Amino acid sequence: MESEHLKVAVRIRPLLNIDNTRDVAVYTNEQNEVKVLDGEHYLTSNYDKVFQPESSQEQVFRFIEPALIKTLKGFNCTVFAYGQTGSGKTHTMFGGNWEENNPAPQVYYKDPQGRKSEISILKSLQGPGIIPNSITKLFADTETKQFTFYCSFIQIYNEHLYDLLHDARRDKSLRIRENKIYGIFVEGLAEFVTESAEDCFLLLAKGDKNRAVRQTRFNHHSSRSHTIFQMLVETDKANKRGVLKKAKLNFCDLAGSEKYDKENSMAMEHIKELKEINKSLSVLGKVIHALGSGNNSHIPYRDSKLTRLLQDSLGVNTRTILIATISPAAVYAEETISTLKFADRAKQI
Ligand code: ADP
Ligand code: MG
Repeated sequence: MESEHLKVAVRIRPLLNIDNTRDVAVYTNEQNEVKVLDGEHYLTSNYDKVFQPESSQEQVFRFIEPALIKTLKGFNCTVFAYGQTGSGKTHTMFGGNWEENNPAPQVYYKDPQGRKSEISILKSLQGPGIIPNSITKLFADTETKQFTFYCSFIQIYNEHLYDLLHDARRDKSLRIRENKIYGIFVEGLAEFVTESAEDCFLLLAKGDKNRAVRQTRFNHHSSRSHTIFQMLVETDKANKRGVLKKAKLNFCDLAGSEKYDKENSMAMEHIKELKEINKSLSVLGKVIHALGSGNNSHIPYRDSKLTRLLQDSLGVNTRTILIATISPAAVYAEETISTLKFADRAKQI
């Protein structure tokens, strides 16, 4: 059922040289349907939108653009990228080569239907992702200066929150608090007033640098953490009661959804990480599902840091967009089916 509050999209990335295979298991059609084959099993589902491997960053941005307009009107909005590591979450949210030391792979097989098989680097597939495109758009549209934007950048690793924009306190875990004036907030989190798109891009770069430092120093790999870029939009047009209008715009690049590999032994700490991730993703699924079903009686926000942080953005009068990213390669079919099942559960009413 089509919902105004929740939109679920699937983005299939191209087959890449890093996949080391040409076997594909994902098929789509014009009706926004996706079919995945895994041996004898297959799954067919349809979504609000399916982005093909050749879909551009621009097309993906246009899908989320209505949510930006809603934020300016006072609605809290959240965009999630969900999928296994390597499926294109960071590419979708931030854009090609955003993470340092992550060279663009060669796209050598762009069509999951198997019609074309040329080796190419598709320039159109690179370029800025949803976050930079949103920033550009917001500042281009709000030249009248009636809005103030506050930005913050958070990493959640093993159920601990870290500030990616605060160099000195980078390694200190922060607490989520709630009070009548601010609602839900993170104690001590740096929030920067930004006056231009350039200001925001500098913050994105700073956050990425801190993320890379944390990764080297503590082995807090970004694929095992949630990254949330938050923009608080405030309009100086106060309402009748003289209260400023505020809305939150959240962009979440979620931790990789992969299950742990039972055949290969894994260090204890990595098993713990994966358990924490699976738990928080499953709570997220439950929360989104509860919202879609209109059953607001018990929503388990408090069962994970991510949903607690986003509590006031995942409720009545909010907009949520879930983009499930998948690889077309047959070797990942099992993970791909699990990603699509998450997306299906989210949208089922
Ligand atoms: P994730 O964040 O889910 O782990 P990434 O976004 O880092 O995955 O994507 C893995 C690799 O695939 C990256 O090098 C990225 O540039 C490339 N990639 C992902 N999606 C696309 C796409 N739609 N078009 C071209 N390259 C892509
Ligand atoms: Mg990533």
